[in-house]
Amino acid sequence: MADYYELLGVSRNASSEEIKRAYRSLALKYHPDRNKEPGAQERFAQINTAYAALSDPERRAHYDRFGEEPSGATGFGNGATDPFDLFESLFGGSLFGRQSGRGRAKGEDLEVDAEITLEQARAGAEIHVQVDRLARCSRCGGKRSDPEGRPNQPCPTCHGSGVVQFQQRTILGNIVSQQVCGTCRGEGTLVIDPCRACHGRGTVLTQEDVAVQLPRGIDAGYRIRVPGRGNEGPGGSGDLYVRLSVVPHPSLQRENEHLIYVAELGVAQAALGTSLEVPTLDGPQRVEIKAGTQPGDQVRLRGQGMPRLQGIGSGDLIVVCKVRIPSPKQLDKEAREHLQAYAAAMGEAVSEPHPGFFERLGKTLRGES
Ligand SMILES: [Zn+2]
Ligand SMILES: [Zn+2]
Repeated sequence: MADYYELLGVSRNASSEEIKRAYRSLALKYHPDRNKEPGAQERFAQINTAYAALSDPERRAHYDRFGEEPSGATGFGNGATDPFDLFESLFGGSLFGRQSGRGRAKGEDLEVDAEITLEQARAGAEIHVQVDRLARCSRCGGKRSDPEGRPNQPCPTCHGSGVVQFQQRTILGNIVSQQVCGTCRGEGTLVIDPCRACHGRGTVLTQEDVAVQLPRGIDAGYRIRVPGRGNEGPGGSGDLYVRLSVVPHPSLQRENEHLIYVAELGVAQAALGTSLEVPTLDGPQRVEIKAGTQPGDQVRLRGQGMPRLQGIGSGDLIVVCKVRIPSPKQLDKEAREHLQAYAAAMGEAVSEPHPGFFERLGKTLRGES
């Protein structure tokens, strides 16, 4: 079998988070529910073996030292014997195993990332995300037994209740507790002929398109919960969480409910005033800049920022003025003379102009310097 690190496509010093991420994306790619290519199933099993070893610090340390697993340790640790169990325990992240109903676990919550634009955040748009989730198998309807085979039978351990009771002797007397039946895992029934479509798991991995309604004014870093679109489980579906990031806008920056636009003014524009075209989320808008505008001065366009997430109304679009001082290279002869005349009129002492390149070259050629 190939090197575990190579199988997962990670470096030997990858963090456990990197290993987990690599495993998740590969397992989704080669999951036999989705990938029908020859060899995919074998690859899926190998990826699972590699992950089972590298996700366990002790086993990973041993593997790093000896390049192989201690005899008898291969396969799936932690009591899991089925690659699908490992996959499913990880697929939902850390929020799996919630109990509901009569002790039957709800499916895992899932999380996906979505990138939205500032315009979508402002409008409260509907976006679509693609979600890999375990959905109820359509062949068996989640019953796990094949419709053409024998029906499920009541679990002999719990007699169909899904839970077992046990007595505990404590200093307060005997206490009767109950827990999920281990034989049927709370299902109450045992599968005799597993469904041919889902191999008796009751769920199949599918990619679904999920519509998500954004609240107006939503910002990066928020998670939106979509109920029931997580993994399907015996006790119902988990939820889907959509984690948002916002594509940077080419000219506007967001600060809470306000939008910032930095306007670069020339010296003359700042001194004499001008009218500027400012990009707003509703399109360009003319904005008057007063004569005598100082660097850092602001012009506020009221209500043209982002809607307040918790509250009414919207923030402002704030035009922050910067004044651009031209560099010597940007000044041609005429502009420099005008500036010198301006300095003279204002009584400002200025430096003499430096000799130009050709003047210096001529001096060098004549041997004058
Ligand atoms: Zn099925
Ligand atoms: Zn049972």
